Amino acid sequence: MKINENYKKLKASYLFSTIAKKVAEFTEKNPDKKIIRLGIGDVTKPLCKTVVEAIKNAAIEMGTPEGFHGYGPEQGYDFLKEEIKKYYSKRNVALELDEIFISDGAKSDLGNILDLFSTENTVLIPDPVYPVYVDTNTMQNRKIIFAKADEENKFLPMPDDNVKADIVYLCSPNNPTGAVYNKEQLEKWVAWANKNNAIILFDAAYECFISDSNLPRSIFEIKGAKNCAIEFCSFSKTAGFTGTRCGYTVVPLELEFSEMKLNKMWLRRQTTKFNGVPYIVQRGAAAVFTEAGQKEILENINYYKKNAKLIADTLDKHNIFYTGGIHSPYIWMKCPNNMTSWEFFDYLLNEIQVVGTPGSGFGVNGEGFFRLTSFGTYENTKEAMERLDKILK
Ligand code: PLP
Repeated sequence: MKINENYKKLKASYLFSTIAKKVAEFTEKNPDKKIIRLGIGDVTKPLCKTVVEAIKNAAIEMGTPEGFHGYGPEQGYDFLKEEIKKYYSKRNVALELDEIFISDGAKSDLGNILDLFSTENTVLIPDPVYPVYVDTNTMQNRKIIFAKADEENKFLPMPDDNVKADIVYLCSPNNPTGAVYNKEQLEKWVAWANKNNAIILFDAAYECFISDSNLPRSIFEIKGAKNCAIEFCSFSKTAGFTGTRCGYTVVPLELEFSEMKLNKMWLRRQTTKFNGVPYIVQRGAAAVFTEAGQKEILENINYYKKNAKLIADTLDKHNIFYTGGIHSPYIWMKCPNNMTSWEFFDYLLNEIQVVGTPGSGFGVNGEGFFRLTSFGTYENTKEAMERLDKILK
């Protein structure tokens, strides 16, 4: 019996365990000091009322003979897909129901989609970025090359005609940098992919944080994208579904490589290896799109955005370079005085007891940067910024 040796190549991530260890050591020595965590990547606001009500009703329905649901369609119920279709049509993106696949979240689909592609492909991944892209490709032994994201390109790498790749990951708004591609930039990526017979895997998990209608929330707002892109979305950050689990992936019917429709391949993959998202959860997700649901989720998103603004304003005041914070829950700041990411982490922990995430944990180009998030409470974020303001002086 031989194992998949590629797992030996995975780099162990000590990022969050090292943070936890350092914080625990500090707390032991300084039990009276209040630590404020601005490193949280998970949402903290509870599910909104309308969603809870829909989940409750669906659970009651499931307990009746006429309302019971067994195995559902693997690709999701039409009642939810119809809502997603309408949501896209508001941005003039026309989708067929068959192009929408409901899943248990973006992370699973981002990994599973690789079943569709040869391991001989070369993958282009921005650095720094959400670590799942690198690890899932490493597990399947694809050649990975990196697109450098840095201060110069404001953490938004652009296509390079000299770089040959078959699969490219774009994440906008980005985790960890909060950077958002504009329309012209995405047009360049779509043109590059179409010209080079490449596919874009577009991670739009944070699209709900975009409030400028000129910024694309979907790659399909770009002409030609249906011939070269798959989009991954999630209710996690949109509606606090990180623990409830629901997302969706859009695979256009037009998408064709080697005379194979990727939409049909994905349908085959999902119907073979996945048995759908619970009916109860899909009812909850559909409630997100009701008028009340939209209003309530927006209140939560705006709460996080207000926190992000507090952080951004503090950095502006001290002329510190950062990306994100406006259309994203993340603020990606340059460490002052050329400190490394971990030096700045230790400095903040020891001096003001504010915990963030060292940028170097997201890729080599993250060195010298630091991620702060807006998923804490307003009161804590405010206090953390008052403390930061004092030491930055
Ligand atoms: N994509 C990005 C960029 C993320 O940061 C996350 C979670 O933090 C995910 C996808 C995962 O989303 P989900 O909870 O839908 O699996």
